[in-house]
Amino acid sequence: MFDLESILRDNIKRLVPYSSARDEFKGEASVYLDANENSFGSPLPAAYHRYPDPLQWKVKYRLAEIKGVPPQNIFLGNGSDEAIDILYRAFCRPGVDNVVLCPPTYGMYEVSANINDVTIRKASLTPDFQLDLEAIESAIDENTKLIFICSPNNPTANAINREDIEMVLNNFDGIVVVDEAYINFSRQKSLIRELTEYPNLVILQTLSKAWGLAALRVGMAFASEDIINVFNKIKPPYNINQASQELALQALDNIEQVNGWIKETVEERNKLQAALTALPIVELVYPSDANFLLVKTVDAKGIYNKLVEQGIIVRDRSKVELCAGCLRITIGTPEENITLLNTLKSIPAI
Ligand SMILES: *Cc1c(COP(=O)(O)O)cnc(C)c1O
Repeated sequence: MFDLESILRDNIKRLVPYSSARDEFKGEASVYLDANENSFGSPLPAAYHRYPDPLQWKVKYRLAEIKGVPPQNIFLGNGSDEAIDILYRAFCRPGVDNVVLCPPTYGMYEVSANINDVTIRKASLTPDFQLDLEAIESAIDENTKLIFICSPNNPTANAINREDIEMVLNNFDGIVVVDEAYINFSRQKSLIRELTEYPNLVILQTLSKAWGLAALRVGMAFASEDIINVFNKIKPPYNINQASQELALQALDNIEQVNGWIKETVEERNKLQAALTALPIVELVYPSDANFLLVKTVDAKGIYNKLVEQGIIVRDRSKVELCAGCLRITIGTPEENITLLNTLKSIPAI
């Protein structure tokens, strides 16, 4: 049985969070002399002299409408990477607890574990990049606090079978983190509808990919209100700055434009997949549910270098487990994809 209290670190249970000026007075007033701000203004056209809303309610209310979850079930972080770090700090005792990762997968889970001195137990994906449920089961012990599942997975591009994710959710008493950074490009539906069913589920999404706002650094976590309250206790008081909050709110009104880009990206993905498959230097293009392709080539390093010479940068993933010979290629605009293809065509097969 999942019991949040029993898996929280003791210091977090005891933690009295920092109480900011904006936490202590929440109403509207005419004179604000409580936060040592510059009362005269900011040297910019916009008014940036006041501290921002620590809990970003305006953005959360808009996101709640879009995602169909109550705002109390949303955490916003300075990128999803902040949410990943907070998960470690909330649940994993340094030098004692461990987490289960399913490589090849997103590198930040491991880096964040190392920063927090948390042991990593690996349950590699199967050769078709799905969960190895037996390997996960045998990796878990009484000190396992988190299991990270990335779906669609980076760098393999495929979505993880939903029944397998639900199997893990049903059989693990710690937190299951499902990273849906690429969900907008997937044929598979988000698990966000299942939030009420699984008290141990944390879903990560981001404004960095489909939403086109990587520079603003806004990541989202969706979870039970109890888990979100833990996140809020730990986060820095003003973790999303005012400019990012305002711009994110504005961007969320342009959902049609974003949906148009998603559709176009998926069309381009399918075209690029077919065109790459036809090249002699390409052995295999893996199926993709994301905005990138994992491409198995005859010579990843050589092709990578040839592309760099032409000013085209892709990601060499050939040193990664199960990804020998592979490049990870983000879907570009139609023009960019043509440039990529023409350059690849000029590379002789070896
Ligand atoms: C890009 C990416 C993220 C996004 O991170 P941000 O910090 O929100 O920009 C998260 N998870 C995965 C798997 C990613 O590939």
